[in-house]
Amino acid sequence: MGVGVLDQTGATFAEYLPGMRAVIIADENTWAAAGAGVQESLRAAGIDSDEPVVFPGQPVLFADDAMVLRVRDILAATGAAAVSVGSGSINDVVKNASDMVGRPYLSVCTAASVDGYTAEGAAITVRGVKSTVTCRAPIAVVAPIDVMAAAPSRLTATGLGDLFEKIPAGADWLVSDALGIEAVDWDVWDLVQGPLQDAIADPDGLRRGDLEAVEALSEGLQMSGLAIQVHGTSRPASGAGHHFSHQWEMEGYGRDWAIPLSHGFKVGLGTLAMCALYEIVIGIDLSSIDVESRLVAWPTPAQDRARVEALQPAPIIRESAVRASAEKYLPPDAARERLERIRRVWPELRFRLAQQLMPASEVEDILRRVGAIHHPSQIGVSLEQLRTKYFQAQTIRARYTILDTLEEAGVLTDVVDRLFAPGGYWYGRSPEPRWTDAS
Ligand SMILES: [Zn+2]
Repeated sequence: MGVGVLDQTGATFAEYLPGMRAVIIADENTWAAAGAGVQESLRAAGIDSDEPVVFPGQPVLFADDAMVLRVRDILAATGAAAVSVGSGSINDVVKNASDMVGRPYLSVCTAASVDGYTAEGAAITVRGVKSTVTCRAPIAVVAPIDVMAAAPSRLTATGLGDLFEKIPAGADWLVSDALGIEAVDWDVWDLVQGPLQDAIADPDGLRRGDLEAVEALSEGLQMSGLAIQVHGTSRPASGAGHHFSHQWEMEGYGRDWAIPLSHGFKVGLGTLAMCALYEIVIGIDLSSIDVESRLVAWPTPAQDRARVEALQPAPIIRESAVRASAEKYLPPDAARERLERIRRVWPELRFRLAQQLMPASEVEDILRRVGAIHHPSQIGVSLEQLRTKYFQAQTIRARYTILDTLEEAGVLTDVVDRLFAPGGYWYGRSPEPRWTDAS
């Protein structure tokens, strides 16, 4: 990673993929950004290459199962190792396809837009549903900061949105740790949380494409991907703020727009939504939950299933939400233990959460300055629809977050309602014009 490192692509390929042929996979946009440089560098290092595969730039390449199979067939026919030149979609498609043919690949990043470069797993739409497909990470990554800084600023804003969620996601992990559900791995924690503050420190510089700011963001994203790889799950990098995005992604929201609604824009809005919620949460006293009266109202598995089904009208999402929620469901005995533990850990946990979090107004300011989405109206989502997302987000993944704690404590509706009532974060926040690439 660094300014001017594109010309080290060939040497990197030779070091990590010795003796192999190369095939560059790009689209017209990413080819224009870095294709010739990569090709030249491979040639200079004496690497034999196939004719590059360059997909059309319009419409934007869509990372679905059909695309993965196309690239898999290309790789199967050549025996070459892929050099992915691009950002989120191209990298994910090449990662999945390379894994299918059991071949390592090299990733050349053209934008600081995702943390997935260095991560295991790819975000692929399979039979119409956005999914995380298990597959190996690239053998090496080349991150030329000058190329990435010259990418359209909406891509950098997207990367900040994706990285920003590590703040409330860290809080969710602390909650899960304190309740004995999923322990924090502090070495992995440091990989993600360590570079985070520097990475988001200069939103104006990021928007302008300043090299230093883009390098800090890129470092945060690459480390976050490595943390996912080390930990073996996305827990270090993904909490309830990501669940907002998963919900929109599974609905296919914004997929058919001229510039499809990006992962990081949705995650950035989810980050703001969760930081606003946490502000209320750290002000309430969960150490005084009335365990007995909560247990009287504790749902049966059938009642809990009915709640989830009512929240998820789309059949394809409903099915996976019912499954995820059933995994988290606690029978009454375990519920008693959980509620008592929430009571016990809350005073100290609340203190630690307050240290981890950032005020929602600050989150909004950073999103606004970098040019990311900071109000649901910018993507055509009403406040009422956003309110529903808080409840849907609790259902779609088995991963435990503060939304689950509030649901278990019987206060989720109350807390969410406060956000939209007079004095609440979302109340009276004026709508903003629809986002366009020019804004
Ligand atoms: Zn993400």
